[in-house]
Amino acid sequence: MDNTQAQSFDVVIVGAGLAGAALACVIAQGDPQLRIAMVEAQTLSNEAPSLHNTVQGFDARVSALTLASQQLLADIGLWPEIVSQRAAAYRHMRVWDAEGTGVVDFAAAEVNQACLGYIVENRITLAALLNRLQSLTNVHFFNPAKVAGLSESVAALNKRAAGFNNGEQQRCLDLADGQQLTAPLIVAADGANSLLRQQAGFATREWDYHHHAIVATVQTELPHQHTAWQRFLPEGPLAFLPLGGDHQGHFCSIVWSALPDYTQQLMALNDDEFSQQLAAAFEHKLGAVQSVSQRYSFALRQRHAVDYVQPGLALLGDAAHSIHPLAGQGINLGFSDVRVLAEELLRARQRGLGLGDISLLQRYQRRRKAENLAMMAAMDGFKQLFGHNNIALRWLRNAGMHGFNRSPAIKRRVMLSAMGLH
Ligand SMILES: Cc1cc2nc3c(=O)[nH]c(=O)nc-3n(C[C@H](O)[C@H](O)[C@H](O)COP(=O)(O)OP(=O)(O)OC[C@H]3O[C@@H](n4cnc5c(N)ncnc54)[C@H](O)[C@@H]3O)c2cc1C
Repeated sequence: MDNTQAQSFDVVIVGAGLAGAALACVIAQGDPQLRIAMVEAQTLSNEAPSLHNTVQGFDARVSALTLASQQLLADIGLWPEIVSQRAAAYRHMRVWDAEGTGVVDFAAAEVNQACLGYIVENRITLAALLNRLQSLTNVHFFNPAKVAGLSESVAALNKRAAGFNNGEQQRCLDLADGQQLTAPLIVAADGANSLLRQQAGFATREWDYHHHAIVATVQTELPHQHTAWQRFLPEGPLAFLPLGGDHQGHFCSIVWSALPDYTQQLMALNDDEFSQQLAAAFEHKLGAVQSVSQRYSFALRQRHAVDYVQPGLALLGDAAHSIHPLAGQGINLGFSDVRVLAEELLRARQRGLGLGDISLLQRYQRRRKAENLAMMAAMDGFKQLFGHNNIALRWLRNAGMHGFNRSPAIKRRVMLSAMGLH
C-alpha cells in the first residue's frame, strides 16, 4: 500500500484484551490529546454479560484480581461498576496437599484487609473497559482487523535505532485488509502467541509445563464460604474459586491442571461423570458438584521474553510473559505492566519526549522484569515441589506447609506480595 495513505497516531495498541484495553484507557484519559489506535482481530462486543445465575450464565474465564489490580481499575474509574455487576470478594484461601497433611490457610484479617482479592469474570472487566474506550474521542478502533505484521525488516529498524532517540521515527504496521498505520510507538498486547513478538525477533525463554488446564463453572451442594480453595494433586493443582451473584454462594469457577492424557479423558466424560470425578478429586469439600457448564481446555506453557522493548515497540501482558494459572497472577502482572508503561508514557508526554524513545521503554522494562521473573520462578518452584511423589519431598513439603502456616510474619509477607501490596 502507498505510504501516503497510512494513518498516523501517537500510539498503536495491538490487542484489545484486558491488558491492551486497560493501557488504552489509562493513557487516553491521562492525556486527551494523545491519538491512540486500537487494533483487535476478534469482533468486539461491549454488551454487558447476561448475568444469569446458572452455570451457563458465567464466563468460564475468570481472574482473581489483587488489590493492586483493583486500584488500577479504580483509577480508571471502573471498579465500582465492575464490582456492582458480579464479583466475589474472597476472604480466605485454603491450600492443601493431596499427598499428606500439609495445609496452609490465609485469612484477610491476618493482613488487616477486608478481603484477599476479588474473583471477576474476564468478560465483565473487558466489557467495562471497552465501554469506557468507546466514549473516548481520542481512541480510534480498527475492529475486526487483523495485524499482518510490521512493514519494515527488523534489521533495517535496528540500524535506524539511534534515530528513535529523538522520538521522531515512526513504526509502520500493516493490517491484513491492506490499511497501514504509523506511530512512534506500537504496543504488542496481542497475547501469549504474539505475532508482533515473533515478527520483531524478540527472543523468549519458554518451557512446556506438560499440563493442560480445564476451566468451567460449577454449582456445588455446599456454599463456597468466600474462600479460594486449591488442592495440590500429584497430577497438578485443582482450584475452586468463589463466584458472586448468588447470595448463598453455590457457584465456583474451577481450574483443573493435569497431564494432557488425563485432561483428554476428563474432557471426554459426560457432565455427570465429570462432576463425580471433580467432586472426588476435591475431597467433596463443597459436597456434590450439582451441575457443570461447558468445559474448555488449554495447554499451559510458561514463556518470558528476554527483552520487552525495541525502539518504537513494547510488549505488554501475556505477549511479554505467560505463567501457570495456579496462583492466578497472569493478568495481575499484566495490569502492573500497564500501570508502569502508562506512567512512563504520560511522563514523556509532559516532557515533550518521543514515545518510541528506547531509554523510556527500557525504564519500563527495568521496572517490570524483576517482578515478573520472580513470580514466574515462584510458580515454577511450586509446580516442581508438588509435581513429585518422592517420599522425602512429600515429607519436606508437608512439614514446610505446617511450619509456614505457623509463621505469621513470613505468611504476612507472602500474602502482601501475592496481593500486589509490597
Ligand atoms: C486457565 C487459565 C486461568 C487463568 N486464571 C487467571 C487468574 O485467576 N488471574 C489472573 O490474573 N490471570 C489468570 N489467567 C491468565 C490471564 O487470563 C491472562 O494473563 C490474560 O487474559 C492476558 O491478557 P492479555 O490482554 O495480555 O492477552 P489476551 O487476553 O490473550 O488478549 C490478546 C488480544 O489480542 C488479540 N490479537 C491476537 N493476535 C492479533 C493480531 N494478529 N491482530 C489483532 N489482534 C490480535 C486477541 O484477539 C486478543 O483479544 C488465566 C489463564 C488461563 C489459561
